Amino acid sequence: MAIVHRLLRSAAAAFSPAAAAARRGLSALAAEQTLERNVQWVFLGCPGVGKGTYASRLSQLVGVPHIATGDLVREELASSGPLSQQLAEIVNQGKLVSDEIIMDLLSKRLERGETKGESGFILDGFPRTVGQAEILEGVTEIDLVVNLKLREDVLLEKCLGRRTCSQCGGNFNIASINVDEGNGKPGMYMPPLLPPANCMSKLIIRADDTEEVVKKRLDIYNELSRPVEEFYRKRGKLLEFDLPGGIPESWPKLLQALNIEDHEDKQCAVA
Ligand code: AMP
Repeated sequence: MAIVHRLLRSAAAAFSPAAAAARRGLSALAAEQTLERNVQWVFLGCPGVGKGTYASRLSQLVGVPHIATGDLVREELASSGPLSQQLAEIVNQGKLVSDEIIMDLLSKRLERGETKGESGFILDGFPRTVGQAEILEGVTEIDLVVNLKLREDVLLEKCLGRRTCSQCGGNFNIASINVDEGNGKPGMYMPPLLPPANCMSKLIIRADDTEEVVKKRLDIYNELSRPVEEFYRKRGKLLEFDLPGGIPESWPKLLQALNIEDHEDKQCAVA
């Protein structure tokens, strides 16, 4: 893992075509370092699809950290550090933060994890552009990329229903989704994930979960992140997963698709 964060950091400092070629040359070295290691997975999918929910559950099961670049950005925003004003403007408009800032936040997160003995990861929200995917490919091997999919109207409803408890940090969703697919296809039901009574009065809504900003984020996903799916599809690493409904329905099917058994043994992942 050390090599990953060091190389990501040097990637943050060196954004030029020549540097990109040099980074690619380092991939063999990085692969050598990761022959015996925990899984390195990526979760792709539109805003609101549930990357955080499923990546976080899987990370506990597989025993690797769940690293969401959106969380790293929000932590930086909350810290009121030198970057926070600049980041707030970008994030609240639904735009992407620069590769340089994201690489810096991610490499620092990996470094902190390394000092705690972490190895492997499930990345959520990164890579979000083909450029980021190329940088990642230049520094380490990704074993599997899970592409979570849901209809766009459902994504919007889910984003608008998202709530976080400002005290315990718990994530909830008040949207009750009941979609009739028509044409004899099975409908989709996603019950709300309601907070416990003691969180009710402390719920907050993300500043970028307004209808206008969510639509903008979906447009940006289609323009800049959709090509990342093709990037990994071409490499034979993309696992497409259409969410069939809420967590109770989707979780067992996702585990089945990943060939993972959900029992007490944390080492049951087949990468
Ligand atoms: P998320 O929680 O993944 O929806 O991310 C929230 C916001 O953080 C995004 O709308 C972007 O502004 C920023 N962000 C997160 N990950 C990245 C990334 N890999 N590249 C650029 N911006 C990002």
